[in-house]
Amino acid sequence: MRRMTNKTLRTGAAKVLAAAGLMVIMAAVSGGCQKYEKIEPSTVGESADGSREKTQEGVQGADGEEGAQPVAQSSEMKADVTKETAPEMEARDEVVYINASDVNVRKGPASNAEVVTKLARGTELKRTGYSQSWSKVFYKDQVCYVSSQYLTTAKPAQETAAASGGAVAQAGEIGLDPSWKYADYSKINSGKAVLYKAEGTNRKNKVVCVNAGHGTSGGSSVKTQCHPDGTPKVTGGSTAAGATTAVAVSSGMEFADGTAEAKVTLAMAKILKDKLLARGFDVLMIRESDDVQLDNIARTVLANNRADCHIALHWDSSTSDKGAFYMSVPNIASYRGMEPVASHWQEHHALGDNLIAGLRGVGVKIFSDGKMEMDLTQTSYSTVPSVDIELGDKVSDHSAASLDVLGNGLADGVEMFFAN
Ligand SMILES: [Zn+2]
Repeated sequence: MRRMTNKTLRTGAAKVLAAAGLMVIMAAVSGGCQKYEKIEPSTVGESADGSREKTQEGVQGADGEEGAQPVAQSSEMKADVTKETAPEMEARDEVVYINASDVNVRKGPASNAEVVTKLARGTELKRTGYSQSWSKVFYKDQVCYVSSQYLTTAKPAQETAAASGGAVAQAGEIGLDPSWKYADYSKINSGKAVLYKAEGTNRKNKVVCVNAGHGTSGGSSVKTQCHPDGTPKVTGGSTAAGATTAVAVSSGMEFADGTAEAKVTLAMAKILKDKLLARGFDVLMIRESDDVQLDNIARTVLANNRADCHIALHWDSSTSDKGAFYMSVPNIASYRGMEPVASHWQEHHALGDNLIAGLRGVGVKIFSDGKMEMDLTQTSYSTVPSVDIELGDKVSDHSAASLDVLGNGLADGVEMFFAN
């Protein structure tokens, strides 16, 4: 990265989507150190496989891509128009602070500009230019850009050291922070999870994310990317092997008696929450009613950032009363070699094995050796120990008494996991 001299402003392209969904190319005058490549229209926008290009109504990325939107609109509908419309920057000379976690510092004022580094909340920077979308700052004596929404002139409170582990996060509603890793792969994320803190003298200072499977209305008509790197799914299941996108949240199965799986997973989650709190664990509840607008990626990223492990509760769609098992990480080199799976798959198995041991210990029927290999969106984005556990199937007893037993087994498994 070169120090900016002055008059040699370079032009660059930032991608924007006009209201009608058509693409325009906007040239941004960058004071930065990188020469931009023009973006070809075919590479802009929502790609067929639902990869992570942003749409106007889409998910906000870590730099607040929306900031670029108002600049170019319908008068520039020809996709190949390159226009010298830089974001107007007001000169500033002030100290600003990063006001979110892991905020991107970029070489240019565009969401596709190269990321120089990520800065933590509270980092101090000198700002020399400001627009509503982008701010020009000095980072290590170099001119760089940060989305203006992640800067504040008021010094923010220090993020507590343990916040990333969740243990000391404040109880209450927690939404998806768009700056969190993988957050921008999520398509449905307006809902909130709720963190409950254990009270009493037996606090474990561990947060268990309890994720009642399914229960996102509209979730099956939206698709998200199966793997963060865009590679196809390696096993079949509700989404076929080879697919690169899957439904954001499926609606789940129906028990033989007509009860929706999502109703039972919710009842199970509430029982497990109470048992875990009583045992001193804090609990991050993903869903507490019939609907939460959080897709599987949002749920996973919330758990990654605010919990120490993630347990998604499900019942399988078979009709053989085959027993409980967890979805293990497929023994396929490409999958186990892909991050974040590569760094975490063994801890997913450790959690799953402990949960199965806990269930077995209270007499729950276990399927086979307690696991079945499955390439899941949840697993593909998890950076904390994380499993999808299937507590039975369509013909399993899901009475309150049975759920209570299952809750005891799961809570035992959680205790064993953290004791090991
Ligand atoms: Zn399910």
